[in-house]
Formats: sequence, structure tokens, C-alpha cells
Amino acid sequence: MKAVVVHKNGVIKYEELDLPLMTKNTVKVKIKACGVCRSDIPRILNNSAHFYPIVLGHEFSGIIVDKGEEVKNVDIGDHVAGIPLMPCYECENCKNGDFALCKNYKFIGSSVQGAFADYIVLPQNNVFKIDVNIPFEQGTLFEPSTVALHAIFKSNFSKGKRVAILGGGTIGLFVLQWAKALGASEAVVVGRDKSHLQIASKLGADKVISTLDYNNIFDDETLIEVGKYDFIYEASGAEEMIRWSFLIANAKATICMIGTPTNGIMFPGKQWEIINRKELNVVGSWMSYSSPFPGMEWKMTNEFFMNKKLKYIPEMFYKAFSMKDADKAFNLFNSGEKIKGRVLLKNDM
Ligand SMILES: [Zn+2]
Ligand SMILES: [Zn+2]
Repeated sequence: MKAVVVHKNGVIKYEELDLPLMTKNTVKVKIKACGVCRSDIPRILNNSAHFYPIVLGHEFSGIIVDKGEEVKNVDIGDHVAGIPLMPCYECENCKNGDFALCKNYKFIGSSVQGAFADYIVLPQNNVFKIDVNIPFEQGTLFEPSTVALHAIFKSNFSKGKRVAILGGGTIGLFVLQWAKALGASEAVVVGRDKSHLQIASKLGADKVISTLDYNNIFDDETLIEVGKYDFIYEASGAEEMIRWSFLIANAKATICMIGTPTNGIMFPGKQWEIINRKELNVVGSWMSYSSPFPGMEWKMTNEFFMNKKLKYIPEMFYKAFSMKDADKAFNLFNSGEKIKGRVLLKNDM
């Protein structure tokens, strides 16, 4: 088969590669589409791959073309989305059903070979059967949707409340959709990029705010009503948003941290103290799994993609490339071009 192989930092070749052997518990998937995740970029261009040569790619969809004799969950011909986490199932956290917190996990496209290839061979637990009416492009959105729903679960979301989503990227857009679908009375999305915010409006945001329109979000009182939101989802990882999340929170609000900061965060004492004064509930959310593996996050994504309560709008995708042009897709992230949505790699269908 052909695969996109990263040989060393910045050196990518589309070349022949041997497929791993099947075992009685594995399936072989013909990859149809795979998203280029922001987390892949440092692995390609910034020396942060676990090993070389490596095939990346963890947000994928495809068709089962072969299966081992003990595979029961799926059949040849089934359409599937990839489940990238390979937990050990044996550590204390796995035994509690907290698979994302596994102490010995592997991850497809990071610690094991990924899906930027013609085929991938995986344990049957690492594919999720999806409805045949779900386009393969949309199939690559299972993972981000489940990450968003996991945060909704971790925050003990309840309906009829006001919700603020900080960050208008793919995760933020899915948190928005889940919050609305599950009964938020109002949902506002605050982000920078206006093209993302336009998509947020189409997906049902009651209000969108671009921080680019304000000099200082802490000073501008017209920006948003301070102290109004009961559930706040921080999906940007940006320092000012993390600090600001406490300010816009209602008393006893829950703030769920999803974004991973890339820089340090400095809190003036007065801002940190808001956690005490409002008796805030600050919770973290990591990946997208619950028990039984892979969890309700995955079942509900399939259901809500099917009944269209989670909308599929092609504008969420910015550009698609054929696998053989993977280097062009990766270089896009280094070109200074504004990337307005997701980038996909596809095999000819
Ligand atoms: Zn990802
Ligand atoms: Zn484990």
C-alpha cells in the first residue's frame, strides 16, 4: 500500500509501505478520509514525533475490507470512524472506566502508525461503526465531536442555562452544537477568527463575538454581560480567555477547561479570587472516552449525526488534498495562509 511517511523533521514521502499483519482480533480498514489535526503539525515540522519513520493521522473514516476470525463488533463492508485511543484496559483508571486517563495508553498516529495511508490494521475496539448515510468527510469529525461531548458530560451540563464557549475552532463549534441540542437557553461563542464565528452563527449560536473587535476584553463592558453564564467551556487555550472565563461566570457556575495552553498563564490575585468569591466549579476534560469503551460520546455522535441535530456544513472544511499531496497540506500550516476550517487528506473514492 501507499502511505504518507514522515522520515525525519520536515521530510515527507508518499511511498510503498508494508501493511501490518492481521490477527484474529484486528480489522483492515480502507481509509477514505483523514483530518489533519493541529496536533499533527509539530510532529511533522517541529521535531515532536515519537519516532521515525512514522505515519500520522488519527481523525479518520473508511470501510472495513477484512477482519480476523474473532471480530464480532463489525463486518466487512461496514463504514467506520477511527477511535484513536488504545487504552491498556488494565490500569486502575481503565478499570474505573476513565480510559482517557490510562497510564499506559497508545494513540493511533502518534505512538502507533496512523491513517495517512491507503489502509490501516487495527484492533476491533478501535473502529466505530457509523451509519452509511454519514459522508466520509463528516466521519472524520467523530473524534472532535466526542471530545466536545465529553466536556459537556464532565461539566454536568443541565438544560435551560446560559452557556459561553470560548474558542471558535472545531471543538468549540461542537460544544456549541451539543449545548444547543441538549437544551441551552442561550449560547454565545467568543473567538478571534471571524470565518469560524460565521460558521458558529450558522450552527445556531445566539451571539458571536470576535475579540479582534475589542482592545481589551477585560475593560470593555459592552462586550458581554459579566457574571451571566452558568456553563463556560474554554476551548481556546489562550491566556486572556482562561482568565476572562472567571469574570463572565455566574455565581456557582461551572467552567470546563478543554483547550491546552501553549504558554504560561498569569493571574492577578483579584481575578483568581473570583473562583472563591463566586464558588466556581472549575473542571478539566481530557479526550473523549467513557465506559463501556469507547463510550456514550461515540454512540450519541452517531445518533445526532444521523438525526441531523448535529449539523454537517461543508464550510467546516477548508481544503482537501489527495494523500499523495500530503506535503502541500502540511506546508499550508507553515505558509502564513489563514486556514479557515479543517484540512483533509483523501484517498480516491
Ligand atoms: Zn486531533
Ligand atoms: Zn489503562
